[in-house]
Amino acid sequence: MALVVQKYGGTSMGSIDRIKNVAKRVAKTYDAGNDMIVVVSAMSGETNKLVALANETCEFPDNREYDVLVAAGEQVSIALLAMCLKSMGYKAKSYHGWQVPIITDSVFSKARVEEIPDKNVRADLKDGVIVVVAGFQGIDRDGNVTTLGRGGSDTSAVAMAAALKADVCEIYTDVDGVYTTDPNICQDARKVEKISYEEMLELASLGAKVLQIRSVEFAKKYDVDIHVRSSFNDNPGTMVTKEDKDMEAVLVSGIAYDKNEAKIAVMHVPDKPGIAAKILSPLSDANISVDMIVQNVSEAGNTDFTFTVTKADFKKALAITRETSKEIDAKDVVTDENISKISIVGVGMRSHAGVATKMFQSLAREGINIQMISTSEIKVSVVIDAKYTELAVRILHDAFGMSGN
Ligand code: ADP
Ligand code: ASP
Ligand code: MG
Repeated sequence: MALVVQKYGGTSMGSIDRIKNVAKRVAKTYDAGNDMIVVVSAMSGETNKLVALANETCEFPDNREYDVLVAAGEQVSIALLAMCLKSMGYKAKSYHGWQVPIITDSVFSKARVEEIPDKNVRADLKDGVIVVVAGFQGIDRDGNVTTLGRGGSDTSAVAMAAALKADVCEIYTDVDGVYTTDPNICQDARKVEKISYEEMLELASLGAKVLQIRSVEFAKKYDVDIHVRSSFNDNPGTMVTKEDKDMEAVLVSGIAYDKNEAKIAVMHVPDKPGIAAKILSPLSDANISVDMIVQNVSEAGNTDFTFTVTKADFKKALAITRETSKEIDAKDVVTDENISKISIVGVGMRSHAGVATKMFQSLAREGINIQMISTSEIKVSVVIDAKYTELAVRILHDAFGMSGN
């Protein structure tokens, strides 16, 4: 008998018929003699609706109440799935995050899981109960409801698998695995059989939303193999696992895009020590992560300082940066929300030169201008005009020979 953790995402839980389909799949695994923990997301579109309500209510919704609100979508899903399983004659029980409890820090809307005491869940598993857990939700040590960031149910599932030492962790979604790039925008995308934690971490952090980045961090830290699969068929999916020799042979294993960032440029800043820290510290104090950063060569003692943040943080980041720009005597703050970040990822890059050049040449041939660049050992990212996103992904997919088998 094994302990299986299965996670079903928003599309898989998107209607009562789909929830019934999930219940049948869960029942099948349970009937095969396994203990089961099922982690579910809100029905597709529901979290977006809740976010929209918050934004309609006020310009900067209170952080604590925001989490109480957006956590509501998963409450509906756990109840519906547990009801469905019970009506089929199974023992099942829904759990809010706080009932598990999934204990997190207090950074509302992007809380990190700190600890998951397993006593409650273990007792139910022992009684043969199918445990249905709300993804995305946690509770901090003061008893406040928290949420784990958009797409956070993946992290809830992997954290549960790690805490309860599950034998299997399956993430069921609307595609049947991790592809070389988003199969919904590139028809030639190819499913990969297995991918290293490192590559998946990069892809996830660079916009491939098939897995939330923190779920992969968790998996790597606690050695949890993740099997990404479709909830609509029985195809073998992709194993996200430790790096092995075969993986190094591949130069570029994936291409990601992210339209979810916006650019803020502080213009004409006096070029002297401490400027970058002055601009960035108030942002980090507000828990806003800055991604790409470019500082131009100075002209007559002045420079431009440009960075990107997620669109969710954009309004707040802009307000903070406008304040800072006054303090440091900058001339202006200009913004661009129509940008996209395109990234190529592969552990094989460590031992090959010329990958970035090939990327830049391929984009140049199509007249796509590169606004910002950042590199690491196993990735190259560029920021371009958002309208070229799909084109750039397809060109690069082709240029690096990643199309179909
Ligand atoms: P869920 O609601 O199940 O959590 P998500 O929408 O969060 O599902 O993630 C699945 C989506 O991720 C797919 O529909 C696909 O469009 C997108 N995606 C982006 N990059 C990739 C990739 N490299 N491989 C597979 N899917 C990807
Ligand atoms: N419902 C949350 C979201 O839409 C969490 C998740 O789906 O993983 O972001
Ligand atoms: Mg998701």
